[in-house]
Amino acid sequence: MAQCKGRYADKELTFTNGREFYTEIRCLGKALTGDLCKKCVKNEHIPFNPRLQLDQFQGKVGEEYFKKSVLYGSPWYLKKVERDNYEVSQENLATAKQAQRDALYGTQMPRKKKEEAPAPAAPAPKEVKPEVKPKKPRAPRKKKEETPPPPPAPEPTAPIAVESAEEPLEALEVIKIPVTLKTIHGKQVWYDSKKSKVYELKKDKTVGQYLGRFDSAEDKIVDFPDSDVDV
Ligand SMILES: [Zn+2]
Repeated sequence: MAQCKGRYADKELTFTNGREFYTEIRCLGKALTGDLCKKCVKNEHIPFNPRLQLDQFQGKVGEEYFKKSVLYGSPWYLKKVERDNYEVSQENLATAKQAQRDALYGTQMPRKKKEEAPAPAAPAPKEVKPEVKPKKPRAPRKKKEETPPPPPAPEPTAPIAVESAEEPLEALEVIKIPVTLKTIHGKQVWYDSKKSKVYELKKDKTVGQYLGRFDSAEDKIVDFPDSDVDV
């Protein structure tokens, strides 16, 4: 797609007497309608205000300059040089001529010497702030998941009366045994401290099978017939 032919004032230069004039610059937009981009088609209809040379559409590159334009090469400029004998330095003249050439032939390059004197027309570069994403409510929850699992429930201090799962051979006698939770070799069990008897801790936290006696000296469960059954 062709480059838009919209012409604008760019850099402010001065004659040796201090009077300003501007270099021109070609719009970098893509010509969508005829020779102009969407923006310039819009700007074309805005009446030219000679007091505000910058940011205003000043015709198309290669075409005649507006009467009251103060761009290099404009009727006003030529009058100042030819009639009023305004002078311009070689450097400024070269800059203005180059800008006119660049505009005419089109360029996708950024304007030259832009960094030296930023044109007031150019919008100030927006400060790019790092995007701070609002913390999602998920984050703290995730954190919670990362924390170590809560310590096992404190062992009940008050003995719980449980029913022994061991079935007496002769009679279906319900035996009440006070037990507490105890950890032996990393495994939680129900423990009858009175008789050092160990019972299985079932998944539903109820007392399971009789496992044996806890030998505190050996720190292990030793096989021992359930005395309560032997009654
Ligand atoms: Zn344009």
